[in-house]
Amino acid sequence: MINNQYIEFLREAKLLIPQNRIYTDELRRLAWGTDAGFYRMIPQIIIRSANEEEVSQLLSLANKYKLPVTFRAAGTSLSGQAISDSILIIAGKHWEEYHIAEDRLSVSLQPGIIGEKVNEILAPFGRKFAPDPASIKSAMVGGIVINNASGMSCGTKGNSDKMLLSAKLVFADGSMLNTADVNSRKRLETNHPSFIPQLIAIRDKIRANKKLCDRIKYKYAIKNVTGLNILPFVRFNDPYDIITHLMVGSEGTLAFLSEVTMRTEYDYPFKASAMLYFKTIKEACKAVVDMKGITDIQDTQEGTFNPFRRNGHLVG
Ligand SMILES: Cc1cc2nc3c(=O)[nH]c(=O)nc-3n(C[C@H](O)[C@H](O)[C@H](O)COP(=O)(O)OP(=O)(O)OC[C@H]3O[C@@H](n4cnc5c(N)ncnc54)[C@H](O)[C@@H]3O)c2cc1C
Repeated sequence: MINNQYIEFLREAKLLIPQNRIYTDELRRLAWGTDAGFYRMIPQIIIRSANEEEVSQLLSLANKYKLPVTFRAAGTSLSGQAISDSILIIAGKHWEEYHIAEDRLSVSLQPGIIGEKVNEILAPFGRKFAPDPASIKSAMVGGIVINNASGMSCGTKGNSDKMLLSAKLVFADGSMLNTADVNSRKRLETNHPSFIPQLIAIRDKIRANKKLCDRIKYKYAIKNVTGLNILPFVRFNDPYDIITHLMVGSEGTLAFLSEVTMRTEYDYPFKASAMLYFKTIKEACKAVVDMKGITDIQDTQEGTFNPFRRNGHLVG
């Protein structure tokens, strides 16, 4: 233990969390001190969380002792996002519940479900989880959304930012918000009266600067971005939509994500791959732009897909 704050935190945490989900032994601290990146940090305390109330209580406790907290899903982050030299809260096991909407067009997911498992759940309905990092067999929903992880197929069109509808969040002081629930919104506004007006003020300040807005839109049209996602300030009017989408790419710095509701994507029943050769890179790039028309077919429900419709016109 590095100081008394941790000892006090631990003493109180043990009153909230069963002992068998709190680790402080050398071996497990070493083991949890790494993610898929090349950094190492040894956490002081590791806690396997099991539900929203626990996370809320732990965050308010950490807040009381002014101790930093890091969240972790599968730990496949490549830049040290999932390691800590302070308190590590794990949300994997115990966080695997889901609910598919009746029309199958959206799904609510807890953060500990592995991405590939979401695809297995949706496959019988001809739908899929759009974000597709190459780590999808290990990475979990919480880590995928919070890192805005995406892969070869989804690009910026089907990334978490585009598919996200609402989120359940736990903030650093322990307060909770379900961005889809009117009562939850009202509670936040009552308990934190300056929060939404401040967010609206930031939104309006950004909106007043056209050059900045254009720059933001341009920047987020490409896949490779870093830092907090500020696109929501120009994309949405509703402050709760802004809060929801600010989570994407926040790397656990803004809130704990206890559930997301996301649009599902049509899963093409027939897929093939081919190796194509082009004389120049420019030609290859042009081909991608041309093929994009085919994949831009409106995402339709099962049975209405027409592979020969491009940009709204039949091409074959
Ligand atoms: C072999 C390999 C291939 C990869 N391929 C890709 C790729 O194609 N595209 C890509 O973008 N990335 C890729 N990655 C990086 C990484 O897999 C992704 O970023 C992945 O989404 C991380 O998910 P995770 O479950 O491991 O999250 P973690 O690494 O555990 O956490 C990721 C971040 O989310 C935060 N977090 C986790 N859960 C929560 C929660 N419930 N609430 C709030 N914050 C939370 C953590 O604090 C951390 O900042 C790859 C990694 C590997 C090892």
